[in-house]
Amino acid sequence: MAGNRSTSHISEDSRLARLDAELLHIGNTGTVEFDLTLPSVGANGSTVSWSSGDDHWLEPDGTVHRPQFGRGDRMVTLTATVRHGAASETRTFEVRVLEQRAGFTVIDAAPLSLTADAGARYDLPAFVAAHTDDGRTVAVPVTWDDGTAHTASVTAGDTIVHHGVVQHAGSPDDIASPDDIASPDNVASPDNAAPNARRGTVPVTATIHVGTSGSQTETAPARTVAYQRISPIPFSHARLAGEWPLSRNQQDRFFYLRDLDLDRPLREFRRTAGLDDHGAEPMTGWDAPDSQLRGHTLGHLMSAYALAYAATGDGTMRHPLDYLVGSLAEVQRALAARPGIHPGFLSAYDETQFDLLERLVTYPTIWAPYYTLHKILAGLLDAYRYAGNDTALDLARGIGLWTYERLRKLPRERLQRMWSLYIAGEFGGMNESLAILYRIDGDPRFLEAARMFDNDRLLTPMLQHEDALGGMHANQHIPQVIGWVEMFRVCGDRRYLDAARFFADTVLDHHLYAMGGTGEGEMFHDPDAIGSLLDDDTAESCATYNMVKLVSRLYEFDPDRRYVDYLDWAFLNHIAASASRREDGGSTYFMPTRPGGRKRFDLEENSCCHGTGLESHFLAASCAFASDARTFMVNRYLPLLFHDQTASLFMQRDYTNPGRATMSFTRLNRRAISFHVPDWSADGSVTLRVRSRRDAFDLMDDAGARIHVGAATREPGALLPTPSDPVTLRRSGVRQVTITLPDDEDERTWSNALFELTFTTRFRLIPTPDRPDVAAVAWGPYVLAALDDRQEMLTADFGQADGSGCLSDDEFEQGGDPLTFIHRRSGLRFVPLTFVEADRPYHLYVRAVRE
Ligand SMILES: [Zn+2]
Repeated sequence: MAGNRSTSHISEDSRLARLDAELLHIGNTGTVEFDLTLPSVGANGSTVSWSSGDDHWLEPDGTVHRPQFGRGDRMVTLTATVRHGAASETRTFEVRVLEQRAGFTVIDAAPLSLTADAGARYDLPAFVAAHTDDGRTVAVPVTWDDGTAHTASVTAGDTIVHHGVVQHAGSPDDIASPDDIASPDNVASPDNAAPNARRGTVPVTATIHVGTSGSQTETAPARTVAYQRISPIPFSHARLAGEWPLSRNQQDRFFYLRDLDLDRPLREFRRTAGLDDHGAEPMTGWDAPDSQLRGHTLGHLMSAYALAYAATGDGTMRHPLDYLVGSLAEVQRALAARPGIHPGFLSAYDETQFDLLERLVTYPTIWAPYYTLHKILAGLLDAYRYAGNDTALDLARGIGLWTYERLRKLPRERLQRMWSLYIAGEFGGMNESLAILYRIDGDPRFLEAARMFDNDRLLTPMLQHEDALGGMHANQHIPQVIGWVEMFRVCGDRRYLDAARFFADTVLDHHLYAMGGTGEGEMFHDPDAIGSLLDDDTAESCATYNMVKLVSRLYEFDPDRRYVDYLDWAFLNHIAASASRREDGGSTYFMPTRPGGRKRFDLEENSCCHGTGLESHFLAASCAFASDARTFMVNRYLPLLFHDQTASLFMQRDYTNPGRATMSFTRLNRRAISFHVPDWSADGSVTLRVRSRRDAFDLMDDAGARIHVGAATREPGALLPTPSDPVTLRRSGVRQVTITLPDDEDERTWSNALFELTFTTRFRLIPTPDRPDVAAVAWGPYVLAALDDRQEMLTADFGQADGSGCLSDDEFEQGGDPLTFIHRRSGLRFVPLTFVEADRPYHLYVRAVRE
């Protein structure tokens, strides 16, 4: 018996040691710039000791020594030994210690041009874009000679010029300190505008054009949609079907969400509010009880349930959502009754992190409190917007007013410093959610609160049309730009739209990897630095989730064909590729681009990308269709059923034969249909075949010619008529093809028609801009990866590309199944990146040589 007791003690000790090891949480170890806080006691009383694989960069007490610029990041293995009684467990963490960023010497600051209403107040920005002596562009703090707050003259047409200075030498690591600017006495004289001295300052000017409207400080905006050329049809009207990768991922996510224990993500909310935690197990990773980011996954879950309901129409997704919202309502009420907590507050911790942020305390003492608050607010708004949960809107209002009351007490300068703090000041899309709340509710305090999240460090360079993204955290900033589009939507201030378009175009043109992802080590780098930055830590998934959201919002105001191509490509090649393809909720954090990299799926870490990965697949039909008064626009080809006031249709596409799509309408209330030609279709070529399944009818083609589609034929005894012979339109070098019903045909004619589109799937290389010999291989809509265990850059001779950049089809042969391609000369075996399984070494990039 005694022996039994002792055994049970030991097994209880090992259980607790194992549990405490699992619950250990030391923050985001992927991009370490600051000292780590390493706990010495586990959640159940274990003792924890630490050892470092390389004390030079990371000491066992968590002290971090960053390598000098140019020496590269360092990977250090940190080992925790967790002891409970006689039992011990170890757990290792791979820590990436970032090298210091390059210091810079400013040679000039980009001039600034702004507009202001006559007699209205305006603020000069806290940051401007500056050019450095080594050819980079950076956002630097600026000190204005006459301060930041001004009132415009009363005469429209006046021009006001302000002078200021930026520091001559600096580092992106200390950029969050506008106060440190040298005194104005130290300004370089105009005839010495490019001084060689290390110290000193560089002048900058801001020119204010006084106008009568459209200023940056509009105070009474119309709460209407400002400018919209076309209406994208909401993704919630489409039902994805078939074996398309995105359809399958939706099903996997659906089943994962259906079976979750919801008391776990609610646990820390309830405990903070002094409520019963229902005996729930604690969350792990970024959501662990001692993580400063706890609570963010719950926000993603609310969005995921709401989006899943919208995308599938399946009511079983509403029950868990209603449970989460109802439970949060209890939490919000209970929190309001606790000392030191202000009405409306709703988080899985108290207000301390917000207090510290206002005192400019940095990460990892605090970890992005407004980021987490945004996830909760966005989840509630999604619950209201997509699933009609009115309680969620009430809770969101509470958070909105809490935010407004808190931030309005702070001077603008303080806000600017908060928002420019690395990670600590990350606020997700607070501006987006507050603008949406304003659009729904109309309370101007929400719009005012949204404006308080204007982040000059990002906004001003974008308004100056300067790519100062290098050195900025990618996913910290992309959601802010989504917020600008929503700000433009509700207040019509064109600055926001202009800046958002410049940002999106800059990322699409200069910061993308071949699968559609952006950023390395979570950061933007210098424009076109792609081939020189191929490693394990590229293309963070959440950044692409936010890029597709941004681009689909921009498309509403600027229906650029490029935006459609990006959406389709990024969904198929990065978002679909980031999913574990199991019902375990797993998503990649980074998508490795180094030779022989492997996908790793986050199942327990509850990272940012795990959270967005719960949502992103349900947005897969974004911008598939759009319409204006005359035309129904088919932008994307997905196997789906679609139904709304404009149209009911059925579309088919086989993932193994992606060059072909078929569709038919049962109803369409537009006289014209335009079909997008994807940018991957070689030569911009498309073949459109139209057939009738009943009576003959006429069409106008895109050249205005009338074409006749013959009637279907009915064989004696057959149940259904045989569709007529097809009328074929062939086009090349086009981005879209449009067909129109002549005035003498009824719109009901469309239900008579069958459409078949064929695009040209060819092999081609996608070279990196900075290393043109390093390229990804694509076939049709898929970016391919070579499956190979080697860890060095592979080399292959792909022959000469033709005039359209395509490789000869003879270079490849089919390798067993339809989406496996063997490159004949090198023997390399390529498959779409989307279908590469976990832990399978792959090569997204290879060196293309001519032998
Ligand atoms: Zn992420």
